[in-house]
Amino acid sequence: MEKTKSRKPHAMMIPYPLQGHVIPFVHLAIKLASHGFTITFVNTESIHHHISTARQGDAGDIFSAARSSGQLDIRYTTVSDGFPLGFDRSLNHDQFFEGILHVFPAHVDDLIAKISRRGDDPPVTCLIADTFYVWSSMICDKHDLVNVSFWTEPALVLNLYYHLDLLISNGHFKSLDNREDVIDYVPGVEAIDPKDLMSYLQVSDKDVDTNTVVYRIIFKAFKDVKRADFVLCNTIQELEPDSLSALQAKQPVYAIGPVFSTQSVVPTSLWAESDCTEWLTGKPAGSVLYVSFGSYAHVGKKEIVEIAHGLLLSGLSFIWVLRPDIVGSDVPDFLPAGFVDQAQGRGLLVQWCSQMAVISNPVIGGFLTHCGWNSILESVWSGLPLLCYPLLTDQFTNRKLVVDDWRIGINLCEKKTVTREQVSANVRKLMMNGETSSELRNNVGKVKRHLKDAVTAVGSSETNFNSFVGEVRDKIETKLCNIISR
Ligand code: UDP
Repeated sequence: MEKTKSRKPHAMMIPYPLQGHVIPFVHLAIKLASHGFTITFVNTESIHHHISTARQGDAGDIFSAARSSGQLDIRYTTVSDGFPLGFDRSLNHDQFFEGILHVFPAHVDDLIAKISRRGDDPPVTCLIADTFYVWSSMICDKHDLVNVSFWTEPALVLNLYYHLDLLISNGHFKSLDNREDVIDYVPGVEAIDPKDLMSYLQVSDKDVDTNTVVYRIIFKAFKDVKRADFVLCNTIQELEPDSLSALQAKQPVYAIGPVFSTQSVVPTSLWAESDCTEWLTGKPAGSVLYVSFGSYAHVGKKEIVEIAHGLLLSGLSFIWVLRPDIVGSDVPDFLPAGFVDQAQGRGLLVQWCSQMAVISNPVIGGFLTHCGWNSILESVWSGLPLLCYPLLTDQFTNRKLVVDDWRIGINLCEKKTVTREQVSANVRKLMMNGETSSELRNNVGKVKRHLKDAVTAVGSSETNFNSFVGEVRDKIETKLCNIISR
C-alpha cells in the first residue's frame, strides 16, 4: 500500500471532438489539476488544427499559460481521429462518426500503450472520456484504468438515454407519427412529452434507419456508461435532483457543474474570435440581444432569412454569431440581400467570439439560443433570459428545462418553421420591459443563485467534486495495489 500512496493520480482526458465538449473538458482538466491530479489532455489533431488556424498559427501546447499561472501538471497531446486534416468533417458527418466509432479507439489504444512504454511518471491510472464514446470500458479493461465518464449535457438527457430500453418497450421510440401521450415511467422523470425527447428518439418508424452511425453510437454508448466507475455530470444537484437521484441509485454519479472558468487562458475556439468590446461600449445596459446557434447545428437558409428580417423588424440591437458553415460548409451565402447594410450600426455580425466574455457584458440583455447546454449554463450564469430555438439532439430536451420547468426562457416558435413576425414579436417580449421579461429575469436570478451557490466552498457541486476526488483516488490506489500483487 505504502508504495502506491505517494503517487499522484494521473488521468488521461479525452473530449468528444466537438466545440461544446472540448470546452467543459478543458475546464475540468484545470480543476482536477488544481486538486493534485496529473492530467494528460488529448485533443484530436483536427481539433488542434482548428484551434491553431483560428489563432493564425500553431496553438502549440494550449495549456502552457494555465500551467505556468497555476503550477499545474497538465500535459497536452494530440491523436489522429483517422482522417486527414483537410477532410470536411462537418460536410461528411456520418463518415466522420464512423471513424470516431471504429478508427479513433485504435489510435487512443496506441497512445496509451506508447505513454506506458515511455514510463511516464506518475503512470496513467485513470481515463476520463466523454460519455458518447462507446469504447471507454474496453480501453479501461485493457489498460487497467479507472473508468470515469464525463457527461457534458443535463442529467435529464443522460437519464432518458440511460432508460432507452423503457422508451423502446413502451413504444415511445420511433413513434413520432403515432404517440403523443406523456412519458411518465422513466425513473426520476415525472412527465415528459414525446416532443421534448432528444431529436434522435423523436423519429418515425417508417423514415428512420436505426443502423446509421448515430444510432449505433447511442445504443452502445449508453450501455457502456453503465460500466463506468464514476460518472461526472456538468449540472447542478439542486436543478435536477430527480434525474440525478435516479441515476445515482444505479452507479456513482456526481453533479459538479457548472464546469467553467470565466477567465480561461486556454485557447479552445475552433473559429477566429472577433472582439465585440468596442462595439458594445457605450450602449445602454441590457439593450443588446445576443444570438448564437452554437458550434454544431445547421440552420436552413429559409430560417436564417426569416430570423434576419425578424431581427431588423424588432428594432433592437443585436450581436449575431454566424459561423461560416451555419447553413452548410458548401453554402457560403445565406443572408438576405441588403441585410448587412440594413443592420449597420444596430447589428454586429461575427463568425465567432468569446461567448462568455460577450454575454457577461452588462449591455447584453437576452440570448436567442439553439439551447446548447453550455450556452444555457453560461446564459444563466450571466443572468440572461433565453429565447429558445432548439435545432437537434439534446436541445429539445434542454428547452423543456428552460421554458417549462425553470421558466427562464420562452419559445421562439412552436415548430422548426419560424416567421419574421414571430422573431420580432418574441425578441421584443424577451428584451423590452414588461410582465414576461421581468418574470423571466426574476426566475433566471433564482436559477443563477443555484449555480453560484453550487460552486462555493460549501456548495453542492464543490462538495460532490471533493467526494469524487477522494473516491477516485481510493479506487486508483486499490487498482495499483492489485496490479502490484498480481
Ligand atoms: N461559443 C463561443 N463563441 C461563440 C459561440 C459559442 O465561445 O461565438 C461557445 C459557447 O460559449 C459554448 C460552446 O461554444 O461554451 C457551445 O456549446 P453549446 O453546448 O452551447 O452548443 P453546441 O455548440 O455544443 O451545440
